[in-house]
Amino acid sequence: MISDEVAKELERGKLDYGLYRALLINHGKRGEKAFFYLKEKRVKRYRDFFVVVGEEEHVVDNSFCDCPDFQINLKAKKACAHILAVYIAKKLKLYDEVDAYYVDFME
Ligand SMILES: [Zn+2]
Repeated sequence: MISDEVAKELERGKLDYGLYRALLINHGKRGEKAFFYLKEKRVKRYRDFFVVVGEEEHVVDNSFCDCPDFQINLKAKKACAHILAVYIAKKLKLYDEVDAYYVDFME
C-alpha cells in the first residue's frame, strides 16, 4: 500500500521535505494529509490500536482503517491518509503512547 519512493525516504528517518514531496507525488492529497497528521502529532498508540485524530478519530490496524475514504472511495485497496500516517509513525516512532485500550472508549 505504501509506494517504494515513500518507503525509501523513510529509511533516512526524518519527517522532512523529502518525505513530504514523496508523499505528495505518490499519494496525492492523502499523502499531504498524512504528513500534517504527523507534524501535528495526531497519531496515538493505544494498547490495542493506533488512532489518528483529525476532525474525527479513526482506528487503524495495519492495512485497515475505519474511515469512509478507505472503505468507499479506495475500496479498501489503497492507503488512506490515516494508514499512511500510522505506517510512517511506526517507522519513525512519531506517536504518543496512551496507556489504555481504545476499545474501552468505543460505543
Ligand atoms: Zn482512513
